Amino acid sequence: MTDLVQAIGEAGPITVERYMELALLDPDHGYYSRKQPFGAAGDFVTAPEISQMFGELLGLWCYAAWQAAGSPRPATLVELGPGSGTLMADALRALESVAGGPQPFDIVLVEASARLARRQRETLSGRAVSWCSTVEELPSRGPAFIIANEFLDALPVRQFVRTASGWRERLVMVEDDTIAFVLGRDTGGLAASLPDAPTGRVGEISPARDRLVRGLAAKLMAEGGAMLVIDFTAPGMPVRDTLQAVRHHRHADRLTAPGEADLAAAVDFASLGRVAAAEGLEVFGPVSQGAFLNELGITVRAERLKRSAMPETAHRIDQDVHRLTSPDAMGEDFCVMALLPAGCGPPAGFER
Ligand code: SAH
Repeated sequence: MTDLVQAIGEAGPITVERYMELALLDPDHGYYSRKQPFGAAGDFVTAPEISQMFGELLGLWCYAAWQAAGSPRPATLVELGPGSGTLMADALRALESVAGGPQPFDIVLVEASARLARRQRETLSGRAVSWCSTVEELPSRGPAFIIANEFLDALPVRQFVRTASGWRERLVMVEDDTIAFVLGRDTGGLAASLPDAPTGRVGEISPARDRLVRGLAAKLMAEGGAMLVIDFTAPGMPVRDTLQAVRHHRHADRLTAPGEADLAAAVDFASLGRVAAAEGLEVFGPVSQGAFLNELGITVRAERLKRSAMPETAHRIDQDVHRLTSPDAMGEDFCVMALLPAGCGPPAGFER
């Protein structure tokens, strides 16, 4: 029995939300606290790990949003859950090139894992970057331009199962040294936002994501800026069980060996949009990642990179574009949403 299984056993039945928190971020046994998640040797590959073009285009998106806001100084560029730091390194390179000198942002990374913050420090060595471990600690230094790529999917969800007598919360407990799902007694009214569904179906909500978006919305309304959310979604949400475990690039059992596999749940963009709009933000999208990157000119960028590349590398660049944009790869399962204070007009990639 691993320490996490023991801890869950001792805690008694816990919510799926608490299970995700422990499995991902427990300081001693959590996945992000101990594992090397990214790349071929890790468990999964994210868009910035596929190609430098991804981070470059997002950096340019932030620059365009900053210019549209009147090129304010100071201004902050924030990345939530920066993983290996690759996206920000690519974004900074593109920003320096487009600014024709020092780029205009103070850079702040929000990272809960001390281990991954060290990794980011290595990737970004020599750069003026600061860190905080929660969004509540973000400084107020001018408008904030915020990127969240595959961050919200790591924030925990609560799950409910539709029974003959209504929604009941799905809980996690240990039975005979094995983790299992059980049903809680009632939902405490939390499932009220779920639509009705046939018996046996699972509904998902994420108070943690709603809280995060609400907090950042207040910041954007007060200080200006923009937020770009990129993440995987699924049809039929919120009546859908999207909790998934991934290990060595394959789906794994969600309840076996917590802390060994990445755990994530799809993002319900409609729900996020409602929370942001209620705080006064204007919501753009979601659009598919493929459509978004095409609008930002990924093919033009690819052609430029290919011009100075060996044939083998040029072929790889084409494959990377395909992986990022094609419906049979990340192009449609991943969506992009932009949140801005009302009246800013549509940001790049959302004009049509
Ligand atoms: N954005 C990166 C990595 C995605 S993995 C990429 O696209 O490659 C999720 C990242 O979010 C990791 O860096 C993880 O440590 C961080 N993270 C997860 N939950 C967090 C939380 N509650 N607060 C801050 N960071 C968190």
